[in-house]
Amino acid sequence: MSEPVKIAEYEVECPVCSQKALVEDYIHNVPYYGDILISVLTCDKCGFRKRDIGVLSISEPRKIIYKVEKPGDERALLIRAGGSRVLIPEFNIEISPGPFSQGFITTIEGLIMDLIEKTSFLCESRGENDSECDRVLDLLNKAKDGLVEYTVIIEDYPGRSDIVSNKTKYVRIEKEESGEKPRL
Ligand SMILES: [Zn+2]
Repeated sequence: MSEPVKIAEYEVECPVCSQKALVEDYIHNVPYYGDILISVLTCDKCGFRKRDIGVLSISEPRKIIYKVEKPGDERALLIRAGGSRVLIPEFNIEISPGPFSQGFITTIEGLIMDLIEKTSFLCESRGENDSECDRVLDLLNKAKDGLVEYTVIIEDYPGRSDIVSNKTKYVRIEKEESGEKPRL
């Protein structure tokens, strides 16, 4: 991969301490895909740092649906812009967009590994008798080993996320209905 190229630098109000913070925008070329934008906010006053990522072509709010059905499917690239919700309905998993939600670029496999790490931590902190936590962790481990099929959905309100594959399906989200009744 090529090095990200800096295209802009500007000041915004820090979401944590309301002082002036610096934002740097970079263009990063992803082979076989195209350019993505990486924004890094750094606040010298309070140390807050936030990274956001997004595809350059901004589209309508949409649902991005990707099924993992066979070995190799887990290698698809996932670009999640901050403000998007990530769901795996089969595992009852939802990554909600909080006010400080970070954008990230990873593979489906990378997402599963990250979820295993976070869920393990959660299960441990909750103690021994949380069967739902253990059930989700078990499913995630099976997903890692390619033993179960599952669906990754990104509810992409900013219109700047994507899953890079010819298997990916897109459903438009109506703004007024905030994703309740998607129309094809
Ligand atoms: Zn700050």
